Amino acid sequence: MNDLKNTSNLAAIDAAHHLHPFSDMKELNAKGTRIIERAEGVFIYDSTGKRYLDAFAGLWCVNVGYGRKSIAEAAARQMQELPYYNAFFGTTTPPATLLAQKIASHTGEKLKRIFFTNSGSEATDTWFRMARVFWKALGKPQKTQVIARRNGYHGSTVAGASLGGMKLMHEQGNLPIEGIHHIGQPYWYAEGGDLSPADFGLKVARELEAKIDELGEDQVAAFVAEPIQGAGGVIIPPETYWPEIARICKARNILLVVDEVICGFGRLGEWFGHQYYGIEPDLAPIAKGLSSGYLPIGGVLVSDRVADVMVEELGDFHHGFTYSGHPVCAAAALENIRILEEERLVERARDHIGPYFAAAWKSLEDHEVVGEAQSVGLMGGLQLAADKSTRRRFAKPDEVGMLVRNHCLQNGLIMRATGDRMLASPPLTINRPEVDEVIDTLRKALDHLRDAKMA
Ligand code: PMP
Repeated sequence: MNDLKNTSNLAAIDAAHHLHPFSDMKELNAKGTRIIERAEGVFIYDSTGKRYLDAFAGLWCVNVGYGRKSIAEAAARQMQELPYYNAFFGTTTPPATLLAQKIASHTGEKLKRIFFTNSGSEATDTWFRMARVFWKALGKPQKTQVIARRNGYHGSTVAGASLGGMKLMHEQGNLPIEGIHHIGQPYWYAEGGDLSPADFGLKVARELEAKIDELGEDQVAAFVAEPIQGAGGVIIPPETYWPEIARICKARNILLVVDEVICGFGRLGEWFGHQYYGIEPDLAPIAKGLSSGYLPIGGVLVSDRVADVMVEELGDFHHGFTYSGHPVCAAAALENIRILEEERLVERARDHIGPYFAAAWKSLEDHEVVGEAQSVGLMGGLQLAADKSTRRRFAKPDEVGMLVRNHCLQNGLIMRATGDRMLASPPLTINRPEVDEVIDTLRKALDHLRDAKMA
């Protein structure tokens, strides 16, 4: 067994049998996969014993940090008592019901119900169907079109990849599916031209209004966006953006769907991203931080506006997953939320470690290759730039991002690059010396990019 688990054996087995998400398998098989074996706090360890500071919280999800025994124990207890039962046919399990109540204790007055899924992608497919079903139940079956954004990310299922605005995803599998439209993103650094960020925020928000006019208000079901685009590069919108989007959705009577899969559960220093921006979603998919990734679980928060129609008018909603509200995942999520509450991790992200991280992150703006370094809570996006005075970007954005990312990796720091943006999203438990370690290692990687003298 030991032999089977040694690094080169595992890598060979992996190459033979395991197709990885979002990976060029030929390249990966040639290089060999990194094997992560254990983790504690904000650190993960690979099979060679190398330690990395995980400034990405797994995949934006390990909000309470690694190694929480109480979550493992809660899951184990539940597994022994009742490993599985479904929520179909008029039944529930105590953890599923109590989790629904617990989540509702952190949402606004009008967002008190949840439909459970196993992932963010399934949550996307779920609200997509709900939005159409809602309008149909109200006698407006023609309101089916959904507007999303270029460079948004909402998952990898057919509806998720269609709603996302990733060209490379659309090219694989003839996407988007019919009925989905994309407008611009509030990415001022790259697309703002001579406009001020505030004016640019208004301009891109108003693309929504123009698209609604083009399609016809009576045809449009919903608009979806992430509070801050995550996979798209931690694009923090100008302050003018969200109020204008919310105004337009209200004025034009279309549902506002806020994708909370990354921003939910404390990432921005509030329980949910829409609370940070002061907006009220009609539907809000969640996942990731709900269980801090300890077990897969997601869901859709449903406002009274939609839930009342579903409850009173719809009859059966012909939709659901075998594992919707899985009791073991729900028990883990309940314990995860208990930890967030008890350790006041959300408030800590807002009032203590968030501001410390923000100042440290911002300090990188003095570096020659950094155009802009912004953050909210514990979510940071750093723009690499060839000439910061003119906002000129490097000619090969993917290459510069990878160069910085790989340098970080070699030096024990997990960061992510999206094109020429460096992304950070550490566990909410990260402490000050660990933040300093992130910044020091990243600064060295930025020096490395400067010294590489790329155009
Ligand atoms: N929405 C957003 C905003 C996401 O970032 C993600 C995943 N990164 C998803 C949806 C899809 O979630 P999952 O990978 O759990 O299906």
